[in-house]
Amino acid sequence: MVHVRTLSRYPSALVVAGLVLGMLSVPRAQAPVAKAPTHATRAKRLLIHNAMVIYGNAKPAYGPMDILVEDNLIARVAPAGTIKAADAVIDATGKYVMPGLVNTHMHWQDERGGVPMPIQYERNLYLASGVTTTREVGGDFEKSKRWQAESAANTAIAPRMQVYWVPNRGNGTPEALRANVREAKARGADGLKIFGMDRDQLEAVMDEAHKQSLKTTTHIAVEEVTAADFIELGVDSIEHFYGVADAAIDGIQNFPPDHNSSNEVHRFGRAGELYAQANRQKLSQVVDAMVARKVAWSPTLSIYEASRDLTRAQNLPWYRDYLHPAVEAFFSPNLDNHGSYFVGWTNTQEVRWRQQYRIWMDVLREFGLKGGTITTGDDTAFIYSLYGFGMVRELELHEEAGFHPLEVIKHATVNGATLLGLGDRLGRVRQGYLADLLVVNGNPLENLHVLNPTGADMNVNGRNVRGGAVEWTIKDGIPYHGPTLMREVKDIVARARAARK
Ligand SMILES: [Zn+2]
Repeated sequence: MVHVRTLSRYPSALVVAGLVLGMLSVPRAQAPVAKAPTHATRAKRLLIHNAMVIYGNAKPAYGPMDILVEDNLIARVAPAGTIKAADAVIDATGKYVMPGLVNTHMHWQDERGGVPMPIQYERNLYLASGVTTTREVGGDFEKSKRWQAESAANTAIAPRMQVYWVPNRGNGTPEALRANVREAKARGADGLKIFGMDRDQLEAVMDEAHKQSLKTTTHIAVEEVTAADFIELGVDSIEHFYGVADAAIDGIQNFPPDHNSSNEVHRFGRAGELYAQANRQKLSQVVDAMVARKVAWSPTLSIYEASRDLTRAQNLPWYRDYLHPAVEAFFSPNLDNHGSYFVGWTNTQEVRWRQQYRIWMDVLREFGLKGGTITTGDDTAFIYSLYGFGMVRELELHEEAGFHPLEVIKHATVNGATLLGLGDRLGRVRQGYLADLLVVNGNPLENLHVLNPTGADMNVNGRNVRGGAVEWTIKDGIPYHGPTLMREVKDIVARARAARK
C-alpha cells in the first residue's frame, strides 16, 4: 500500500510566494480557525480545542483545555478558548486527550508462518489503537532498523521504534557472547533482549551490556537462571511472568516424567501451573528485590489470555473484518507455529490458567504498590492476540489486576517512556514534550474499552450506542485519523482474502 502524504510543516509554496512578493490577499492571510486537520499531514500549528486532559502521570483529569502542537512538540496547554490562531483545529468537545501509548513488548512482522503480509497492516493497527511508541524485543534486526529510520523521518506512517537485539539465544562461550553484544552496539541496537542463558553466559552478557551502555530486558524461560540472577546482575526489565515465579519455588517446578519442553502443549500447559507452585512468601521477596534494584516489569498479561478462555479468544468480533489471513492461519492450533498450542486444550487447563492469572495479578499488584515500575506490552500475532487490540486488552487486564485506570494509563505512558530512557520528553501531556497524543471519543477512565479501535458500547440516555475509539492518534505532531487507518486495514484484509480464493 502506498501512502501519499504532503508534509505541511511550512506554509504552502503559494503563501510563501505571496509573502515574498507582498501580494498576499487578505482572506488567505486570515486562515479560518476551524479547519480540520488532514490525515497524515502535519500542520504548522495544530490546535486541540476544548479537551479533557489525562496527563499520563496518574493525576486526575483536568479540563476543558486547549493544547497547541507546533511542529512535533506540545507548545502550550491552556484553558479552553485561550489559544486562537491555528492552521488546523481538532474540536475535542466531549473527548479526552491523553499521551500516546508505549508498547514495551512487540515484534514487527511482515509475514506469519512464511505467508507475506504488508507491514502497513501492523503499523496501522498499532496507531489506530493509540500506540505511538514501540519497543521491538526480537525481530529481523536489519529490516527493523530500516523501518525505525523511516518512522523517525516520518516517511512511513508508523509508531516510533526502539529495536532490541537478541544475543545468540544462549549459544556460544561467554567470550563469543561478549563479542555478540559488542556487535549489537556497533550495529545500532537500542538494547538487548536476553533469552536462554546459563549463569556463566548471563554474567558475561550483562557485564558487557553495562560496558556498552546497552539497556537489557529478558524473557526468562524455565532454565538454569531465574529472576533472582537477572535482578542480581542488574537487568532493566523482566518480560512476561516466567522467572519471577521460578525464583520463588521451593526446589524446582514439579514436571511429570513425560514432560518435553520442545512440545508447546506440554510447555504452555505446565506454565499455567507455575504460580500455584510458588511459595507466596518468596514471591514477595522476589518483588522486594525487583523494587530495590529498580527492575521494571512488562507482564504482557494479554498475550496468554487464550489459555484461560480459548472460546473467547477464538471469537473476538473484530476478527471478522480485521484479521489478516496470514495471521489467521498462524493461529490455528498446531505444533509448528509458536504459541499455537491449543491442540486438545481442556477445561482443566483453562481452570489452572485462571488460577495462575489470579496469583500473577496479585503479585503484579503487590509490585506496583511497593513502587515497582510496570509497563504495558502486547506481544501480539501469537496466541489469538492481534496487533493493537492486544495492547488495549493489556490495559484492561491491568485494571483487572487491581490498578485504577489512571494508574493503568501511567503504566502505558509515563512508565513505558521512562523504561525506554525517554521519560524527559515523551509520555506526558506537558508543554515541551513530544506531541504524541490521542484524541479519544469518550472517557477511558470510565471505560478502557473506548480505546479499542472498533469502539465500545456506550450508554446514551439509557440507549446502547456504539461509540468510542481513538479519533486521532498524533505521533511526532502528525495527526492520523483512526477511522481512516482502520478502513485501510479492512481493505488490506479484504484484498488478502480475495487473493487467496
Ligand atoms: Zn515477544
